[in-house]
Amino acid sequence: MGASLDITGLTLRFGGVTALDGLDLSVASGTVLGVAGPNGSGKSSLINVLTGHYQANGKIALDGQPIEHLATSERARLGLVRTFQTPRVYRRMSVIDNMRVAVHATQAIFRGRSDRRHRDGRLRDDLAIFGLSHRADALPDALTPYELRLLELARAHATGATVVLLDEPSAGASEDEAHRLSRILIEHLMPGRTVLLVEHRLDMLRALCADLVVLRAGRKIAFGSPSAVLDSREIRTCLMGEPVDA
Ligand code: ADP
Ligand code: MG
Repeated sequence: MGASLDITGLTLRFGGVTALDGLDLSVASGTVLGVAGPNGSGKSSLINVLTGHYQANGKIALDGQPIEHLATSERARLGLVRTFQTPRVYRRMSVIDNMRVAVHATQAIFRGRSDRRHRDGRLRDDLAIFGLSHRADALPDALTPYELRLLELARAHATGATVVLLDEPSAGASEDEAHRLSRILIEHLMPGRTVLLVEHRLDMLRALCADLVVLRAGRKIAFGSPSAVLDSREIRTCLMGEPVDA
């Protein structure tokens, strides 16, 4: 599993706002790149451009192959999937049906296996990994916000995606939930995968990422190991949302 992701000269404008400003990034196969930056620095825009939700100028290569011309669904079938800052699930479908739909849409791991019981067994195993066994037949509205987040992650996992883009997975989570989430990511979602982790919790970035990039106004202002990047007082101040020269 895992595939490299290379981004060159990515530029995205909304009217007078430049969300991404000639961004270059590389994520090596099977590694985790953290992305941090103040509000409005372009983190979600980056994910939206990578999945094809937004169209930008510049190049995106998945394992060396250009994908910027592909639709979101085609990118997902190649193994590139995401989660949202606010979880998005089908509210009228049960948890297990949400899993089925995601796997069907990406036609990934069950190709050639039409045995529904076998497939459902795998999906229930995946739900168990994410602590959602007891929720399989519930509707999403019955889930806590944290369980909804787990469902999004379980769904990404079940598709067999090679590249996963996570947009602030700890958003709305308590300290304890963020800690449990980190363990699940480390033990189950991240192994063997290429991951772009947008996160505002510095402890999670330190614990989960090989490298960390910091964005401001759509530009890279720092890159390196999390400990080296977060060692800078200026960068920490920028991430805390306070004026840099205060
Ligand atoms: P972040 O996720 O880092 O908080 P975003 O990528 O959401 O930042 O936003 C970057 C900039 O692009 C902001 O100025 C934001 O207002 C703008 N932006 C993002 N999405 C849209 C959109 N759909 N329409 C207009 N402006 C947008
Ligand atoms: Mg965002």
